[in-house]
Amino acid sequence: MANQDDFFKKVVAHAKEYGFIFPSSEIYDGLAAVYDYGQLGVELKNNIKQAWWKAMVQMHENIVGLDSAIFMHPRIWKASGHVDAFNDPLIDNKDSKKRYRADVLIEDHIAKIEEKVEKEVEKGRKRWGESFDEAQFRATNPRVLEHQKKIDEIHGRYADCMNRNDLEGLKQLILDLEIVCPISGTRNWTDVRQFNLMFATKMGSVIDDSDTLYLRPETAQGIFVNFLNVQKSGRMKIPFGIAQIGKAFRNEIVARQFIFRMREFEQMEMQFFVRPGTELEWFKRWKEERLQWHLGFGIPADCYRYHDHEKLAHYANAATDIEFRFPFGFKELEGIHSRTDFDLSRHSEFSGKKLQYFDPELNESYTPYVIETSIGVDRTVLAIFSHALKDETLEDGSVRTVLSLPAKLAPYKAAVLPLVKKDGLPEKAREVQHLLMPDMMVQYDEKDAIGRRYRRQDAIGTPFCITVDNDTLNDNAVTVRHRDTMQQERIAIDNLPAYLHERIKPIKNQ
Ligand code: ATP
Repeated sequence: MANQDDFFKKVVAHAKEYGFIFPSSEIYDGLAAVYDYGQLGVELKNNIKQAWWKAMVQMHENIVGLDSAIFMHPRIWKASGHVDAFNDPLIDNKDSKKRYRADVLIEDHIAKIEEKVEKEVEKGRKRWGESFDEAQFRATNPRVLEHQKKIDEIHGRYADCMNRNDLEGLKQLILDLEIVCPISGTRNWTDVRQFNLMFATKMGSVIDDSDTLYLRPETAQGIFVNFLNVQKSGRMKIPFGIAQIGKAFRNEIVARQFIFRMREFEQMEMQFFVRPGTELEWFKRWKEERLQWHLGFGIPADCYRYHDHEKLAHYANAATDIEFRFPFGFKELEGIHSRTDFDLSRHSEFSGKKLQYFDPELNESYTPYVIETSIGVDRTVLAIFSHALKDETLEDGSVRTVLSLPAKLAPYKAAVLPLVKKDGLPEKAREVQHLLMPDMMVQYDEKDAIGRRYRRQDAIGTPFCITVDNDTLNDNAVTVRHRDTMQQERIAIDNLPAYLHERIKPIKNQ
């Protein structure tokens, strides 16, 4: 598709039209940045969660799961630093009255210069063809070097302002870079202010300040406060991990881009507890392992990249993001952080309970260090869904829309289609449907011409269409049509479950 914006609109429209994702409370005109997963979306999302759980919990004997409550003691958020520091710097444009995140304005500006670099590289590739040496081109081309110098300068100033919490410096950087509001086109900005992202609510019937609870902005703290419970009851030995999938809530200032930035979303987080001093080695391992998990979906490697953090949170000694090429550019999909002993130490301090581990090999107690892997379920849905969606021009010139999801993630694995609605074919097709149902999600469809039914299944990502025709009644075999190649094969019904199983294999590295 020619234009990124048009493609993104198509992604949103397709998700709604086929029952993947609806705006929340739509009949009341919606609720900003909140979405509901429809009948197919919930299947896709559950399949992604299962793939993660399997890779992280089932496939690691030293990682166990947890499901902690959303409501937690309010002091937890004081200890974690969220009450005082879970802020985003916001800035308003006085003409359009639109609100922005100051850091995002600057990052978007940097991304535009990065795009220019990529364009130069593309030009070079076209010009030099086979003999093109990309690394040398990047290291020597004057225009690339000029852009890169600009990027480094901006990065330097930006990281410095963020590290020193210098809000005036951030505003000055926005002014110096001549960043304009995309709506009004002006540079008439307010000062930068900090805004806390946590939602507060009240517990019980007596309303005073001490009853203020927060909806958790991340699932991680539920893991830290259960560290000793899990370690002792599970007799866990370091290194070990605790994994959790659950809802998180953030009052995002700028919540656009569909399910990329929501106010209620879902995270899959794993905290890996290690011996102090070994954390950077584990950080490296998890960084690599998590990228391999993503690559297992079969999406090309150049859709992913690492983004190592320049600005480290005060508690971290290494951090990287795995970014994905979304329809609107490369953005964070997962964060991997080496969080030192910050969280356990703070909870020890605030709760008065010692959160330590006795290491029998060293014969000493210590506060474990933590490597965290934290990924958004919804962002993963968006990455996989948008990458899978394409319009294909067929040999006869017609266009089909196909959602090439990995079979393991597809909402329906197969659709059973009687060729016609008579001659005993629907009954036979129902038999096939019931044969497969206990093992996989199967849809039955007898409405419209077979070609239209194939298109409907292509559009929702069903990898196999199983057609029951008149011959089926004689040879007890069906035609299996493959979604991506559109090729057809005749398969005996007795062999069908095994045939499909073989082709809905677990995802690589997962
Ligand atoms: P960003 O910089 O995009 O706001 P973040 O660095 O605040 O993200 P983390 O706190 O590291 O994000 O959260 C871990 C993961 O949770 C992110 O990589 C992302 O996939 C997901 N996530 C965070 N905020 C949101 C949100 N508002 N909507 C959907 N997913 C989110």
